[in-house]
Amino acid sequence: MSSMSSMGSSSTGSATSTPVDHDENAPLWDYVTKLIKRGEGGNNTKFKCNLCNIEFQGSYMRVKAHLLLTKDKGIRVCSVVKERSELLVEIKKAHEEAEKKKIMAQPKNVPLPPPSTSIGGVGGFRLEDYDPEPKKRKAAGNSPLEKGMNMGARETLHSHIARMFYSASLPFHLARNPYFIAAFQFAAQNNIPRYVSPGNNLLRTTLLQKERAHIALLLEPIKKTWNKKGLSVVADGWSDAQRRPLINCMGASDGGAVFMRAVNCEGETKDKTFIAKLLGEVINEVGSQNVVQVITNNAPVCSAAGSIIEGIYPKIFWTPCVMHTLNLALKNICAPKETGVAGFALDECLWIKHVIDDVMSVKNFIMNHSMRLAIFNEFVSLKLLSIADTRFASSIIMLKRLKLISRGLQAMVISERWSSYREDDVGKAASVKKKC
Ligand SMILES: [Zn+2]
Repeated sequence: MSSMSSMGSSSTGSATSTPVDHDENAPLWDYVTKLIKRGEGGNNTKFKCNLCNIEFQGSYMRVKAHLLLTKDKGIRVCSVVKERSELLVEIKKAHEEAEKKKIMAQPKNVPLPPPSTSIGGVGGFRLEDYDPEPKKRKAAGNSPLEKGMNMGARETLHSHIARMFYSASLPFHLARNPYFIAAFQFAAQNNIPRYVSPGNNLLRTTLLQKERAHIALLLEPIKKTWNKKGLSVVADGWSDAQRRPLINCMGASDGGAVFMRAVNCEGETKDKTFIAKLLGEVINEVGSQNVVQVITNNAPVCSAAGSIIEGIYPKIFWTPCVMHTLNLALKNICAPKETGVAGFALDECLWIKHVIDDVMSVKNFIMNHSMRLAIFNEFVSLKLLSIADTRFASSIIMLKRLKLISRGLQAMVISERWSSYREDDVGKAASVKKKC
C-alpha cells in the first residue's frame, strides 16, 4: 500500500505538503489518508479524514462530498471544514482547479473539414467548396458513381484518420503499416454495430497476452527443430528509447531467429558473471544439449563470459560476433593507434586516417555554415551525410558517399559562388577547396 498521506492526522493542519502519490485529477485525496484499497474501482477504499479524524468508506465522490460540505450524498460533512471557512476556500479552490484542468484536457470539438462536392475535389480540398455552415452544406455524392463509392463517407473517414494522426503526433509512415491499412479495410467491409475500438487497458492486457500466446504458438515449429538441428544463442546489448540498458537474447537456428528475452539491466554491473548467468538461463531454457554456440560481441567482458559458459558447458563454444569483429578491425584501420595490439598498423594505415580527417573537415565546414550548405545543395543532389551514430563502419559509409558526390563537390569549390561568398572563414573555405 503506497497511499499513506504524508500529512499525518493532525486535526487542524491544512494540506501544505504534497504527498507522494498526489493525484492532479483528484486533489482532495490529499486531505484524507487512504487506509485500505482493494481493486481498481476505488469503491472499497477506506479513508480517514485528516481534519476530523473520522473514518469513512467509499470513492473520491464521497471524499469530495465530505470535504466540500455537500449534503444529501449519504456522508457526514466535515465538522472541521465547517468551522474554518478559510479551509473550505482552500479545498474548493483545489477542487475547481482540477475540474478546470480536466475540461481543458478534453478533446476540443473542432469540426472536420467538410466533404468536397464532386469527385474532382477528392484529395485536393478547394477553398471555394468550404462552407462553414454544416446545415447549408450541399449533399455530397449525387452522381450514381459517387453514391456507389460512398464518396462522402470515404472523405469523412479520411478526415477522421488524418485528425487522429495530427492530434496524436503519429508518424506518417504509420500510414504504410500493413496492419493499419488492414484494420480500416476490415472496418469498412464489415458492419459491426456499436463497435468501439479497444481501449488502453484492453490493448495492454488481454489483447497483448492473446497476441503473445498466438505468436508463441506460431514459433513452436521452429523450436521443434532445435533438438535436431541445434541452435545458437545470440545476445547483444542496446539501449531503448528511455535509455534503459537492455540485453537481448535470441535463439538462432536454420529455421530463423526466435526472440527469447530482453533483460533490463538498469542498476546492474554488466560484468562477466552477470552476462554468463543470463546466457546460462537462456541455455537452460532452450535445453543445453541443443545449443551449439553462444554468440556475443567481442568486448572483453563478453569474451570472459563466453569462457565461463565454455567452462560450464564443455560442448558449447563461444563465438564473437563477426560484424562486431570486422567493425573493430575497420576502426583500427581507420584510426590506427601507436600502441596496443594493433600498433603495427600505424605505418601502413596512417594515410587512411589522413583521408578521413580531410573528409571530416570538409563535411563539418559545409554542415556548420548554412550558406555553404545552400551552395552545396545547388551542386549536389544527394544529401551530404550526416553520419548518425551508426554502429558499424560509419567512416567507411561516409567515405563512400563522398566518393559518390566528388564531382559535384569539385564543381562546387571551383564555382563563382563558392569563392565570391566571403562572410565566413575564408581560409577554411580555401582549404576545403584544396581538399576536394
Ligand atoms: Zn473531515
